[in-house]
Amino acid sequence: MKKEVSQRTYSLAELGWHPVFDDYFAEYENNTFIPARVAREQRHSYLLLTEQGEMTSKVSGKMHHQANSKNDYPVVGDWVVIRPQNEQTPAIIQGILPRRTQFSRKVVGTQTEEQVLVANVDTIFIIVGLDHDFNLRRIERYLALTWECGARPIIVLNKMDLVSDLAEKIAAVEGVAFDVPILPVSAQLGDGMPVLIDHLKPGMTASLLGSSGVGKSTIINYLLDSDVQTVQEVRADDSRGRHTTTQREMFLAPQGGLMIDNPGMRELQLWVDEAQLAEAFEDVEMLIQQCRFSDCQHNTEPGCAINAAIENGTLDAARYQNYQKLLGEVRQLGVRKEERFNMEEKKKRMKQISKYIKEIKKSSKRR
Ligand code: GDP
Ligand code: ZN
Repeated sequence: MKKEVSQRTYSLAELGWHPVFDDYFAEYENNTFIPARVAREQRHSYLLLTEQGEMTSKVSGKMHHQANSKNDYPVVGDWVVIRPQNEQTPAIIQGILPRRTQFSRKVVGTQTEEQVLVANVDTIFIIVGLDHDFNLRRIERYLALTWECGARPIIVLNKMDLVSDLAEKIAAVEGVAFDVPILPVSAQLGDGMPVLIDHLKPGMTASLLGSSGVGKSTIINYLLDSDVQTVQEVRADDSRGRHTTTQREMFLAPQGGLMIDNPGMRELQLWVDEAQLAEAFEDVEMLIQQCRFSDCQHNTEPGCAINAAIENGTLDAARYQNYQKLLGEVRQLGVRKEERFNMEEKKKRMKQISKYIKEIKKSSKRR
């Protein structure tokens, strides 16, 4: 890691400093502390970008001691307060400034825990492939995730070179995206890409969200290739060159702006609550308010605004079904959160596990 630390220095503005952090930092302000932004995490060692250059760092013993969960440790995009050290000794992280936005996912597996993946992202580019990946329901899901995180979504429709019905596809996306910008591009041919790059402003932090194969790497490479000169300057000391971008989780784009490329955001489970879902499905929620009965199940009840809207074509039946499906998931998640504290569940699980272990032992004896 040490080898890759470059001598380049950064201004707070280009690192995405925001006025609210002035107040947060005031609490720490003294002559020896400086703010720094986390660019990469590696086994409790963090690569930081600062006004004094890039530094490796570790959290202080005190922070380590006080941490209650993994989310009390810095993540990529965090602003931390450090005491800089000399070149041989890592800087010591004293604290994390409150996160303006945070992107989380449900911890993979049976646990129902929130895991913060990245912090302080302003804009999330939702990347959709216009080929077989094209799916309005998935776009709705990604919009819900983005709003939940507190970031601003931008929808990028990639691989426009592959479709002949682009206008229809855009209109369909408009139907679920409302005022969210929609950018049709071909990352491979470069069509529409200047518009996309224009949305990444100096000091702004962006990230990409989208299924595998939609073109996220191609877009990142385009972003870096568009000004190779500057890129090489930035990574003068990075012996592996600019192809290490997928490893460098947060990097400065040549034209300004920061991009976080986080592999964890590529595999996601929903972590949203009902209020956030309502935000993504404002139209459906509004209709539900208009049903004659407040406990309307939207089946065959008279005066059901949902059914009326589906019949007269103002609400897409598939959109409503997706809303119901996501609502089901959110409620299920809510139940599971409670179950976490349920000892009965735990006992049952322990029984299953010991049974499983017994079976494994039996089968290995047979061999
Ligand atoms: P990722 O998994 O989201 O990072 O997707 P990649 O960037 O690896 O792209 C997946 C595949 O789609 C690769 O074969 C790319 O060459 C291809 N691809 C990316 N962008 C475009 C595009 O605009 N048009 C076409 N036709 N193919 C593209
Ligand atoms: Zn109804």
